[in-house]
Amino acid sequence: MVEADGLGGACVLTDCVPSKTLIASSETMGLLHRSADLGIRIEGYDGRMTRSPGSVTVDAPRLYGRIKALARAQSADVAARLAAEGVEVIASRGRLTGPHTVLAGDREISAGVVLLATGGLPRQLPGAEPDGERILNWRQLYDLAELPSELIVVGSGVTGAEFASAYQALGSQVTLISSRDRVLPHEDPDAAVVVEDVFRRRGMTVLSRSRADGVKREGNGVIVTLSDGRTVRGSHCLLTVGVMPATMGLGLDQAGVRVDERGFIQVDKVSRTSAPGVYAAGDCTGVLMLASVAAMQGRIAMWHALGEAVQPLRLDHVAATIFTEPEIATVGVSQASVDSGEVEAKTVKLALATNARAKMQGFRDGFVKLFARPRSGTIVGGVVVAPRASELILAVSLAVEQMLTVDQMAHTFAVYPSLSGSLTEAARKLMRPVETSR
Ligand SMILES: Cc1cc2nc3c(=O)[nH]c(=O)nc-3n(C[C@H](O)[C@H](O)[C@H](O)COP(=O)(O)OP(=O)(O)OC[C@H]3O[C@@H](n4cnc5c(N)ncnc54)[C@H](O)[C@@H]3O)c2cc1C
Repeated sequence: MVEADGLGGACVLTDCVPSKTLIASSETMGLLHRSADLGIRIEGYDGRMTRSPGSVTVDAPRLYGRIKALARAQSADVAARLAAEGVEVIASRGRLTGPHTVLAGDREISAGVVLLATGGLPRQLPGAEPDGERILNWRQLYDLAELPSELIVVGSGVTGAEFASAYQALGSQVTLISSRDRVLPHEDPDAAVVVEDVFRRRGMTVLSRSRADGVKREGNGVIVTLSDGRTVRGSHCLLTVGVMPATMGLGLDQAGVRVDERGFIQVDKVSRTSAPGVYAAGDCTGVLMLASVAAMQGRIAMWHALGEAVQPLRLDHVAATIFTEPEIATVGVSQASVDSGEVEAKTVKLALATNARAKMQGFRDGFVKLFARPRSGTIVGGVVVAPRASELILAVSLAVEQMLTVDQMAHTFAVYPSLSGSLTEAARKLMRPVETSR
């Protein structure tokens, strides 16, 4: 294995693991924000999601220290596992010199099979170069000495929405700049509306249909210029405008590996590239930028290379979560594919506001939604918007994977009171009416 920056990759060291660790702390602040409603008083804390002079504050060095330590520990676990499997790790940048040769530092390694998994890099916005101090990409956040007091997040896709949600909960005053009509433009529209509503209610400024043209330092802060001439000022700016493939300088041409017009490596459903013996997996392929998909692509590549029977990658069963508060978890078909007629499905959406457990825990934002085939009742997808939706979606995932029907889910016991009870209730609502004989 040739790895330039650290085992576990960006997923473990800078992207997925650190951001979810940050969000674990922001969730705790979210609980504290709700505590007054639940009858718990914190002396000097006004219960509002703004930086308060009360006794609850964020210890930024400790927060970021924990995040970095956890990432390093996770990376060490990967290293231990590789060592136990007898994998040689070469800490170097590698590049192909042909389809079966990799140059890593001064070593040239021959291989029957090569797997490229070089990931991605934060996309840069011309006129908004990160300086690592006040103009930042998400990999630079954890070196800050303090919590940004006024954070401007540019980009309202998954990464932007997650960080905006987390920093708002931690006490930063957040402005989210979104070029589209609403945040999370590629996600379930009902879910995006709920999350945007929560953002605004908690005091976040969401600037829709606003495109950032440039970001500059100004005194002890930053100034973002929008394409219509407006300006937004803050203490820090976080750029979340997408991921570019890390495929430059990899020697792909020499090896005959084709890339698309944006530089992503082209692969088929068993992770083969255009060069025989060269496979690619993960963000460098641009297929679906999730750690779970990257790992599956890698496994499929290796099974295929070893000549095992292999099922091609299926993207219609991928479960994914956006870790905002509340979380949005999805699996299977989307609302867009149902609305366009591409998929024929009945839909039911149940608001969590009527769920007894949700009331007890003091939240009302969220819903469960199920999609099922009209005649057979087979469950083909679902959306859960709730705290810990990432855990709740497994029931729908199982149903989609195992082609369970709404009748089967409706007959499954759910605990009372529980959020998952809303899933079985949604299934009951989709059951075919029992035909009565005369
Ligand atoms: C902020 C953020 C949060 C995320 N959260 C989630 C989440 O909650 N769940 C989820 O499923 N996904 C999440 N993702 C997506 C997930 O992180 C990626 O899909 C995943 O990291 C892709 O894995 P990979 O192996 O393709 O690449 P990476 O994890 O990017 O690893 C690639 C590695 O290759 C190394 N490398 C690159 N070029 C070379 C070279 N020439 N020689 C040697 N080494 C090289 C890099 O240094 C890097 O270490 C998140 C992404 C971001 C940005």
